[in-house]
Amino acid sequence: MIRRPLELFACTLAGGALALAYAEPAWAGVAGSVGGAGLWVTFDNIRAARVLSWLRHGHAVRPPAVSAVWAEVVERARRGFKVLNRKARKSEARLQEFLAAIQASPNGVVLLDKTLNIEWCNFTAAQHLGFDSKRDVQQQIRNLIRDPAFIAYLNEGDFSKPVEIDGRDAYPGHPHRIAIHIHVYGKGRRLMLTRDVTAVQQAEAMRRDFVANVSHEIRTPLTVVSGFIETLQQIDATPEERARYLALMGQQAQRMQTLVSDLLTLSRLEGSPVPGSTEWVSSTELLDQVVAEARALSDVVAGGEHAIVVQPSPEFEIAGARTELVSAISNLLSNAVRYTPSKGRIEVGWRLLSDGGAECFVSDSGPGIEAEHLPRLTERFYRVDRSRSRETGGTGLGLAIVKHVAQRHGGQMLVDSVVGQGSTFRITLPPSRVLAD
Ligand code: ADP
Repeated sequence: MIRRPLELFACTLAGGALALAYAEPAWAGVAGSVGGAGLWVTFDNIRAARVLSWLRHGHAVRPPAVSAVWAEVVERARRGFKVLNRKARKSEARLQEFLAAIQASPNGVVLLDKTLNIEWCNFTAAQHLGFDSKRDVQQQIRNLIRDPAFIAYLNEGDFSKPVEIDGRDAYPGHPHRIAIHIHVYGKGRRLMLTRDVTAVQQAEAMRRDFVANVSHEIRTPLTVVSGFIETLQQIDATPEERARYLALMGQQAQRMQTLVSDLLTLSRLEGSPVPGSTEWVSSTELLDQVVAEARALSDVVAGGEHAIVVQPSPEFEIAGARTELVSAISNLLSNAVRYTPSKGRIEVGWRLLSDGGAECFVSDSGPGIEAEHLPRLTERFYRVDRSRSRETGGTGLGLAIVKHVAQRHGGQMLVDSVVGQGSTFRITLPPSRVLAD
């Protein structure tokens, strides 16, 4: 503790001088000097103890009021604490920013220690795996995820690929798949990333179904055509038979052509930008065109025995793509004609809506559609009446096209149907696409 020999020397001299002034014998001077030095050491130790106690408690306690060299020690330590505190605050802020960035990640992140206990996880991971991001910290991951595929993945320790498990809220008819990928880092620690792959898997399943459906739709007419070609090559057909076979082959070729044309329309709708507001189409002209086509179709499928009625409609301009709008409304009218028995009634027209938008409606007195089918009508190749659709040249893509066109114009396709009474299909358009007087 004695770090200041000058101070000690001064104290000792002062103690000795005092003792000499008041006491005669020589030993009294020595005793006085020793006493003075002892006094100094005691005071110095008290100051040192106060400084030490402050250092131990760090910056939380106010620095002790000490003098001389101890004051300098305290001041230097205080400045040191200040710099350390600033650094610690900066590091803490950086850590919080880093954690906030991981929180914002669309993927789930779980940090595991060497013993596979959770050290930290973000909300997304908690949601994917059904954890509580605070309560489950320090829990063993094996106790929280009991899926056998995940346990096997952990046990095998081959983390080159992710493993997929059911999400917590998956149940029959409501798939929820989570991909988990573990990465080892540091000294045996693990970073576990989770990703919701439900939509990806559904898209992949849809793609597979779509390819299977297209192949099936094309294979059937192709088989028919190649069958007739073989027949014509092998047998000596009469002119009447040849004419009949050729007519049937023509029908099948037409079927394939319609299918390809609908597929191309769908892919154009999916791949092209949304129609702008520079092309204006007259609502009346649209109706005239599609109604003429519907009457021609009715002649073919029902000997023209449908009553196709155009309801009194307002005339206005529509901002949109003419070919798309014609294709959508004529698909609705063609369905009404194809599914409504002859002598049935079909009504078509426009109406302005109170919000400034408009809708085109097509009603028929046909068989109607059961409620359970309504949500699936716009799925590609979904058919309620399969045989009627095929007989009348349907592709199963018509309503998918209608839905796309409506959505691309900012509207939607709506259906109301009562079995045994008929159906009403509507295409709505938002006010921004309607210019009425
Ligand atoms: P399709 O080419 O088979 O007509 P769509 O996508 O146009 O395909 O229609 C899907 C299914 O919805 C049809 O197969 C048919 O069963 C049913 N459907 C569509 N419109 C009507 C309607 N107006 N009346 C009764 N059923 C209809």
